[in-house]
Amino acid sequence: MKQKLEQIIEPLLDWYQENKRILPWRISKNPYCIWISEIMLQQTRIEAVKSYYSRFMQEIPTIHDLANIQEERLLKLWEGLGYYNRARNLQKAAKIIEQSYQGKMPTTYEKLITLPGIGDYTAGAIASIAFNEKVPAVDGNVLRVISRIIGSKKDILLPETKKEISKLLINIMPQQAGNFNEALMELGELLCVPNGEPTCSKCPLNKICKAYQENLVNEIPVRCKKVKRKIEEMTVLVFTTKEGKIAIRKRTKQGVLKDMYEFPNLDKNYTEEQLINYLQEKKILAEKIEFLGNFKHIFTHIEWKMIAYLVIVKKEELDYMWVTQEELKKKYALPTAFKQLMR
Ligand code: SF4
Repeated sequence: MKQKLEQIIEPLLDWYQENKRILPWRISKNPYCIWISEIMLQQTRIEAVKSYYSRFMQEIPTIHDLANIQEERLLKLWEGLGYYNRARNLQKAAKIIEQSYQGKMPTTYEKLITLPGIGDYTAGAIASIAFNEKVPAVDGNVLRVISRIIGSKKDILLPETKKEISKLLINIMPQQAGNFNEALMELGELLCVPNGEPTCSKCPLNKICKAYQENLVNEIPVRCKKVKRKIEEMTVLVFTTKEGKIAIRKRTKQGVLKDMYEFPNLDKNYTEEQLINYLQEKKILAEKIEFLGNFKHIFTHIEWKMIAYLVIVKKEELDYMWVTQEELKKKYALPTAFKQLMR
């Protein structure tokens, strides 16, 4: 197996040299830039990350700035990327780097992996790309590409499979470790794609790839079925005054989207009639109620089935924060789940 995999190094590096995309975080080998981009790229597409990345770097260009920025502002800059704990962990890690590493990013995989929010993949990516340490960085792209090359039908969602593939890669890591890892990821993004047919005819590894040679491309990689998501119903109330003020509140410190802002909401989906009864019970004087639509938002393990109403009230009498649209846009981090209602 080692011999087979070693054959991919040269053609892969040559292909990468000629075909790699110019991405803002690839311009330098600055470990801070690599770190931020890798965390943003978890769960988000490259194209979508680009604008978030430039905005973030403009306002938080150093580890020191990240350690010291107000959490509220940090979450605002992260708004739309989701999985807000990633942003919080970035700041926690930046504070540790300030205190224990004189503000400089640790240079080894061993030290990087001890920081909050930095797992096996991210530690491997930073250590290899910024410091050229010979460690692999195994993400979904790499698992798919390597499984196809070696013709493995093992479930790529199992930790054992990831361990096995990491081990195989450690044994063949070349001198240009960072380029090699980036090349594998780039091949997985551009040619050996996850959805749809891979472009094997243009792949520099097609003579070595077992899946291609044995016509197994559609069978590999193997993924076991995902866990079913829990459905949670919710009624969202966009309370608005005639002057255009909107009611928001801060979510609790527990559960999903903790500490973010939201529109007031109720458990279960209410019909308009049920909502009128609810408002009467609470002695809320609504001048107008308008159905805004059905929405959904998907988290890893939960799906929110939302029904939303615009409720125009006379004055800012309810116990919420009343903000203008402009303030809501600029100052408060409103998760995508609620932001979609604004459209
Ligand atoms: S030949 Fe096809 S399946 Fe094999 S690595 Fe290349 S793109 Fe992927």
